[in-house]
Amino acid sequence: MATPDFVAQGGCTCGVLRYRLDDRPIFVHGCHCTWCQRQSGSALAVNALIETDRLTVLSGEPEEVSIPSPSGKGQIILRCPACRIAMPEYYRATEVMPSASQARMAALQG
Ligand SMILES: [Zn+2]
Ligand SMILES: [Zn+2]
Repeated sequence: MATPDFVAQGGCTCGVLRYRLDDRPIFVHGCHCTWCQRQSGSALAVNALIETDRLTVLSGEPEEVSIPSPSGKGQIILRCPACRIAMPEYYRATEVMPSASQARMAALQG
Protein backbone atom coordinates (compact mmCIF):
# COMPACT_ATOMS: atom_id res chain seq x y z
CA MET A 1 0.00 0.00 0.00
CA ALA A 2 1.29 3.45 -0.87
CA THR A 3 2.43 5.77 1.87
CA PRO A 4 -0.16 8.61 1.77
CA ASP A 5 2.21 11.41 2.77
CA PHE A 6 4.89 10.49 0.26
CA VAL A 7 4.98 12.16 -3.17
CA ALA A 8 7.95 11.93 -5.51
CA GLN A 9 7.80 12.59 -9.23
CA GLY A 10 10.54 12.70 -11.78
CA GLY A 11 11.04 13.39 -15.41
CA CYS A 12 13.39 13.88 -18.30
CA THR A 13 14.88 17.12 -19.54
CA CYS A 14 12.47 17.69 -22.45
CA GLY A 15 9.36 16.90 -20.39
CA VAL A 16 8.01 14.05 -22.55
CA LEU A 17 8.58 11.38 -19.93
CA ARG A 18 7.24 11.71 -16.38
CA TYR A 19 7.07 9.12 -13.64
CA ARG A 20 6.04 8.83 -10.02
CA LEU A 21 7.26 6.77 -7.08
CA ASP A 22 4.11 5.51 -5.39
CA ASP A 23 5.83 4.64 -2.14
CA ARG A 24 9.00 5.33 -0.24
CA PRO A 25 12.02 3.57 -1.71
CA ILE A 26 13.28 0.46 0.06
CA PHE A 27 16.56 2.33 0.45
CA VAL A 28 18.55 5.15 -1.11
CA HIS A 29 22.28 4.89 -1.58
CA GLY A 30 25.16 6.67 -3.24
CA CYS A 31 27.04 4.14 -5.34
CA HIS A 32 30.65 4.87 -6.32
CA CYS A 33 31.27 1.69 -8.29
CA THR A 34 32.89 2.07 -11.68
CA TRP A 35 29.70 0.85 -13.43
CA CYS A 36 27.63 3.67 -11.90
CA GLN A 37 30.42 6.16 -12.57
CA ARG A 38 30.44 5.25 -16.27
CA GLN A 39 26.64 5.34 -16.54
CA SER A 40 26.27 8.68 -14.80
CA GLY A 41 29.49 10.32 -15.98
CA SER A 42 30.08 11.39 -12.40
CA ALA A 43 31.82 10.34 -9.20
CA LEU A 44 28.72 8.56 -7.95
CA ALA A 45 25.08 7.79 -8.70
CA VAL A 46 22.40 8.36 -6.06
CA ASN A 47 19.95 5.51 -6.52
CA ALA A 48 16.61 4.64 -4.97
CA LEU A 49 15.64 0.99 -4.97
CA ILE A 50 11.88 0.47 -5.22
CA GLU A 51 9.46 -2.28 -6.20
CA THR A 52 8.71 -2.06 -9.93
CA ASP A 53 4.95 -2.17 -9.33
CA ARG A 54 5.27 1.02 -7.27
CA LEU A 55 6.68 2.98 -10.19
CA THR A 56 4.09 4.61 -12.43
CA VAL A 57 4.86 6.15 -15.83
CA LEU A 58 2.66 9.27 -16.04
CA SER A 59 3.45 10.35 -19.59
CA GLY A 60 5.56 9.27 -22.52
CA GLU A 61 6.71 5.85 -23.65
CA PRO A 62 10.14 4.95 -22.31
CA GLU A 63 12.57 3.23 -24.64
CA GLU A 64 14.29 0.15 -23.24
CA VAL A 65 18.05 0.09 -23.71
CA SER A 66 20.01 -3.04 -22.78
CA ILE A 67 23.44 -2.49 -21.29
CA PRO A 68 26.10 -4.78 -19.81
CA SER A 69 26.12 -5.33 -16.04
CA PRO A 70 28.69 -6.64 -13.55
CA SER A 71 26.83 -9.98 -13.27
CA GLY A 72 27.07 -10.50 -17.03
CA LYS A 73 23.29 -10.88 -17.28
CA GLY A 74 22.60 -7.40 -18.53
CA GLN A 75 20.45 -4.59 -17.29
CA ILE A 76 17.64 -2.56 -18.85
CA ILE A 77 17.66 1.23 -18.65
CA LEU A 78 14.53 3.16 -19.60
CA ARG A 79 15.31 6.30 -21.57
CA CYS A 80 13.23 9.12 -22.98
CA PRO A 81 12.94 8.49 -26.74
CA ALA A 82 13.37 12.22 -27.42
CA CYS A 83 16.10 13.58 -25.12
CA ARG A 84 17.60 10.19 -24.06
CA ILE A 85 17.72 11.02 -20.35
CA ALA A 86 17.75 7.82 -18.30
CA MET A 87 14.71 6.97 -16.21
CA PRO A 88 14.31 4.18 -13.66
CA GLU A 89 16.21 1.12 -14.67
CA TYR A 90 15.06 -2.41 -14.18
CA TYR A 91 17.12 -5.08 -12.50
CA ARG A 92 15.25 -7.47 -14.70
CA ALA A 93 18.04 -9.95 -15.10
CA THR A 94 19.03 -10.44 -11.47
CA GLU A 95 17.95 -13.48 -9.49
CA VAL A 96 18.05 -11.54 -6.22
CA MET A 97 15.44 -8.89 -6.95
CA PRO A 98 13.67 -9.63 -10.23
CA SER A 99 10.84 -7.20 -9.51
CA ALA A 100 12.89 -4.25 -8.24
CA SER A 101 13.70 -1.06 -10.08
CA GLN A 102 16.21 1.63 -9.42
CA ALA A 103 15.46 5.32 -9.88
CA ARG A 104 18.09 8.00 -10.24
CA MET A 105 17.33 10.37 -7.40
CA ALA A 106 18.69 13.34 -9.36
CA ALA A 107 15.74 12.99 -11.75
CA LEU A 108 13.16 13.49 -9.00
CA GLN A 109 11.59 16.90 -8.80
CA GLY A 110 9.34 16.75 -5.73
ZN1 LIG B 1 12.83 13.72 -22.74
ZN1 LIG C 1 27.13 1.12 -8.69
